[in-house]
Amino acid sequence: MLKELREIVERVTASSDLNEAMSELVRQTRDAMQVDCCSIYLRRDLDQAYLLAATDGLAPEAVGHAQIPFGEGIVGLIGEKEELINLADAQHHPSFKYLPEAQEDAFKSFLGSPIIHQRKTLGVLVVQQKQVRLFEEKEESFLVTLASQLATVIAHAEAKGNLKSPNWHGVLRGLAGSPGVAIGKAWVWQPRVELGQVKPRKADDPQQQQARLDKALRQVDEELDSMALRFKESAAGESVAIFEVYQYILKDPVFMGLIREDIERGWTAGSAIKRVCEKQIAQFTAMSDPYLRERAADVRDLGQRLLTRLIHEDDGPLALSEPVILVADEISAPLIAEIPRDKLKALVAAKGSINSHATILARAMGIPAVIGIDHSFELLEDKTLIVDGYSGELLVEPITSVLREYKRLVAEEEQMSELFATVRQERSETQDGVKISLLLNAGLSADTEIAMNDAADGVGLFRTEIPFMMRDRFPSELEQAANYRRILTSYTGKPVCMRTLDVGGDKQLPYFPIVEENPFLGWRGIRLTLDHPEIFLVQLKAMLRASEGIDNLSVMLPMVGNLDEVRAARRLLDRAWREVSAEPGIAPDGIRYPSLGVMIEVPSLLYQLPELAPLVDFWSVGTNDLTQYLLAVDRNNGRVADIYDALHPAVLRALQQIIDHSRLYAKPVSICGELAGEPIGVLVLLAMGYRRFSMNNSNIMRIKYIVRQSRIDELQKVLQEALSHKHTGAFKGVFGRYLEERGLGGLLRAGN
Ligand code: PEP
Ligand code: MG
Repeated sequence: MLKELREIVERVTASSDLNEAMSELVRQTRDAMQVDCCSIYLRRDLDQAYLLAATDGLAPEAVGHAQIPFGEGIVGLIGEKEELINLADAQHHPSFKYLPEAQEDAFKSFLGSPIIHQRKTLGVLVVQQKQVRLFEEKEESFLVTLASQLATVIAHAEAKGNLKSPNWHGVLRGLAGSPGVAIGKAWVWQPRVELGQVKPRKADDPQQQQARLDKALRQVDEELDSMALRFKESAAGESVAIFEVYQYILKDPVFMGLIREDIERGWTAGSAIKRVCEKQIAQFTAMSDPYLRERAADVRDLGQRLLTRLIHEDDGPLALSEPVILVADEISAPLIAEIPRDKLKALVAAKGSINSHATILARAMGIPAVIGIDHSFELLEDKTLIVDGYSGELLVEPITSVLREYKRLVAEEEQMSELFATVRQERSETQDGVKISLLLNAGLSADTEIAMNDAADGVGLFRTEIPFMMRDRFPSELEQAANYRRILTSYTGKPVCMRTLDVGGDKQLPYFPIVEENPFLGWRGIRLTLDHPEIFLVQLKAMLRASEGIDNLSVMLPMVGNLDEVRAARRLLDRAWREVSAEPGIAPDGIRYPSLGVMIEVPSLLYQLPELAPLVDFWSVGTNDLTQYLLAVDRNNGRVADIYDALHPAVLRALQQIIDHSRLYAKPVSICGELAGEPIGVLVLLAMGYRRFSMNNSNIMRIKYIVRQSRIDELQKVLQEALSHKHTGAFKGVFGRYLEERGLGGLLRAGN
């Protein structure tokens, strides 16, 4: 039977149409199992029923009509119990419900399996026979296997096919690109000129073609200039660097040189742009690093902008009368900039990732965004949408009750962001007078997040690998020093903690590929840099050189798992400091020896804290990796995302142990994983005794607000109560109530 099973699965998964796939499955299953009937019922939440979606054996005209309400019939029972039911004579079962239009009178025995995808019941797969008999075990397992395969096909088809029907309403799932909720009409954008539409042509006037290219270049450059100017004056002023990246590509001699060479070879300006951009897009797309892969979108957008200028010389700015939700296959940062802020409610894109420039910009501007919804969007035009940037869901034409609920949420959010803005200049201090340091995690959007963020007390984690990822080779010592100095000077008088290179795992350098079976357990962070002292020394020297006369640098080591790594790193830091300090041009005592700390993110360190304490000046807890490694759950794997829990009892115990040891050894401690920026997370940490938190820019204000609403003595009691509960849900509930009592219940959505 294995062969038949494999064949059915292959055929069904190969089919591009769900109805076709289901018809094929029931026909083949009936044959393979030698039964009299095979049917599929699909769950319809809207009708509160299971609808007969395919059958080979029941009346064909009942397909698409006959339905069994939830909680009724044996099909309903299977859906409810989420388990297989095997009956020798179904008609005598108390739940049996006769479906007259399906004409199932003749069938006696019944075997049904729920079709479950990611814990959600999508339907029921049934085989029936005229003869009274119990189905055998191997038939049961055959059906269960088929149902599990069918679940994936249905889930995928539902998501893909839904938009084809003009009256469809429901939920599409993507990635949460930028937090917040927005309700509005869809405005589907398409580029006026796409690279793919251009047919490469030759011309015999290269000089004229170069002149056309020059003109288009000037125009696009001016366009970007004016966008940058607008942004400089706006709340997201720091995002101006994104436009500089575009201008940098425009002026890149290699990129432009290739286009000019193509023109010299006889191609028209448009063809040359198309050819060169498409080659670069292919190169970027093939890169394994997600940040660099996203640069393909930047090149595509620039190419299309240049082409638009070449073809439609009079292309004016986008005119919108009403605020909209921008929906597009791919959204670029300049496209966002073209739409006045008060006309842009949210973003929805088929392509993109959390690292794309558009998404980074959306976060900086506070525009909710859902990305990575794999659809073509034409049919969404003018439909009412709800963009839930917390969960990554897009609700299309939501029903009234859902709409009402979301409207309430939006109103609550607006109220809350007004509230948060009121604490910008206030001290981060609890109601009982305990001072809390709120620092910034930076580096992911490198230059964009690094603004003079006056709400933050400094930089708690600068992820130096990000600037490394944006290049095509290792940056030189001077290049690094210039970059680090910019950051250190931006925060003069405030501490900046620079973490040494943390590549490996999911962070790859395009020019230093590491191929491993198990990269998160492999050559990552300090393990790699200690094996390459030449890279490590250059980075340490660059940091030290950058700190001359500023005195706000501390250095942190990632992925430390044993003490020898710290000792070896300390020796290299000593050497780097001696060598840089002795250089001509450096004032005696011009470079202060920085404090050196480690990330606590590999669980082995939890058991070595007493020995670690004398070796370092501070430590900082990386809850992202600590959770991943303690629970053995990949932090980037959506399939296990529901069991990745930074408030798991084991993680809580580890966090308590770290704070206890920090006190015992008088070691400064901070938290720099995502937990510090989460509302419940920060309350738990405050209760445990943590006083220093580093988080993304977007979280600082709300965490400051929460801190200012809390009392440590109360939180300690809340923690005691929460710990008395056995389940994580109840644990969180206790802290959730604390937030609700302070009018901050709305924040919990973000935490979920
Ligand atoms: C962490 O692991 O919690 C952390 C802050 O480091 P990263 O997310 O860069 O691995
Ligand atoms: Mg980490």
